[in-house]
Amino acid sequence: MATVLDIAKRNPNAAPVAVSDAARAAGANALSIEKTAELNVVAGAAPGGASLVGLTRDQLKDSLAAIGVPEREHKMRVAQLWHWIYFRGAKDFSEMTNVGKELRAKLADAYTLARPQVISEQVSKDGTRKWLIRMASTGPLDKGAEIECVYIPETDRGTLCVSSQVGCTLTCSFCHTGTQRLVRNLTSAEIVAQLIVARDMIGDWPDATPPEGAFVPNDGGRFVSNIVFMGMGEPLYNPDDVIAAIDVMSDGEGLTLSRRRITVSTSGVVPQMERLGAEANTMLAISLHAVRDDLRDVLVPINRKYDIKQLLDACRAYPGLSNARRITFEYVMLKGVNDSDADARELVRLLKGIPAKINLIPFNPWPGSKYECSDWERIERFSEIVYRAGYASPVRTPRGRDILAACGQLKSETEKLRARARMMAEQGIGAEGVYAVGNGE
Ligand code: SAH
Ligand code: SF4
Repeated sequence: MATVLDIAKRNPNAAPVAVSDAARAAGANALSIEKTAELNVVAGAAPGGASLVGLTRDQLKDSLAAIGVPEREHKMRVAQLWHWIYFRGAKDFSEMTNVGKELRAKLADAYTLARPQVISEQVSKDGTRKWLIRMASTGPLDKGAEIECVYIPETDRGTLCVSSQVGCTLTCSFCHTGTQRLVRNLTSAEIVAQLIVARDMIGDWPDATPPEGAFVPNDGGRFVSNIVFMGMGEPLYNPDDVIAAIDVMSDGEGLTLSRRRITVSTSGVVPQMERLGAEANTMLAISLHAVRDDLRDVLVPINRKYDIKQLLDACRAYPGLSNARRITFEYVMLKGVNDSDADARELVRLLKGIPAKINLIPFNPWPGSKYECSDWERIERFSEIVYRAGYASPVRTPRGRDILAACGQLKSETEKLRARARMMAEQGIGAEGVYAVGNGE
């Protein structure tokens, strides 16, 4: 956090930063469960080379106003830009053939259609793709925040797992992202840009083709048909930008993702759940992971602020909840910690009356993690108890484990390098050693 603040203080051109409402609402005891208050970088339609990719309709309107486009043209011009950016995936203003030459030149002078940079792509044996993405710099001292984004293709769907923050202020004890120090909120444009980058990378635009050998769904639909906010960060600690991004992603004239195919996963930010349902109307997933407060306090420390009862009450009140729109409860299987028969029975009892799916997630280990994944027989037994009680309880097949792309394994490369640099400094190894080690983790 200090780094981001310092950048903002020292550099007058840097985007303004502000402590978010969520952080303020977090109250005085926040530091006991969170590393830092998170920061918002305010998305801007700032002229001077800023990219228009990812902007909302209102932000596009502001961008047009800033270069002197008369107000009476705004609606039409925004519609044109929207079509080119979000429906066709245009990368250059010259493609916008129904926009007059003069305006195209003006737009190109002031703005770009640049995407965040893809620093690396890793392709798993199972076709999962993980991209390390560097966001645009917010000033000369900032080389750009890095996040990871994962594409999981199946035969009948393609799921994109997006990040809502750089790192996460929460510190769930089994999650790799939670160990990352630097945290800031992503802007709505940065969230949308992850979908744009994914469509670029897998050729999912009209007239584009997927890269050779890429596994993509074969049902005739879009290659990215589903979005899950299960990458880095806690989406409900960044609700304004997450909701704005969902509006852009689900817009029928552009990216056209169905809101029912967008799932927001939260560790339990109770005060924001109602708003998410009312404003974004997406599917909800809850990272439950424990059925007793004493254990959940340790695994998912936000439980100390909003306990299991408060969380489940908020679930019962989630707008639009019905048998057709169930809440997914995520439950990570930790050996000897939360995986007994009694835990399974208590889980079923707790969820009584809530239209629910239960998603059992085999724990994905990461370097330095202190838990083990439950044995397969244990997971099956747990799943059987849940199933007998009438719940679909698919065990989520870990995807992309070989490239550390599975749930909770995301942590940006810079942070890994930094951590290694620290470790090596302590052991008296020079910086060149850091790079020599590569990213073999
Ligand atoms: N912050 C949000 C969304 C991102 S985490 C949340 O916590 O819900 C997405 C899911 O991955 C969550 O259910 C999280 O608990 C789970 N997860 C985190 N670390 C994991 C790990 N090492 N193995 C398996 N699942 C993990
Ligand atoms: Fe943050 Fe979710 Fe990881 Fe918890 S599980 S540290 S809330 S990303």
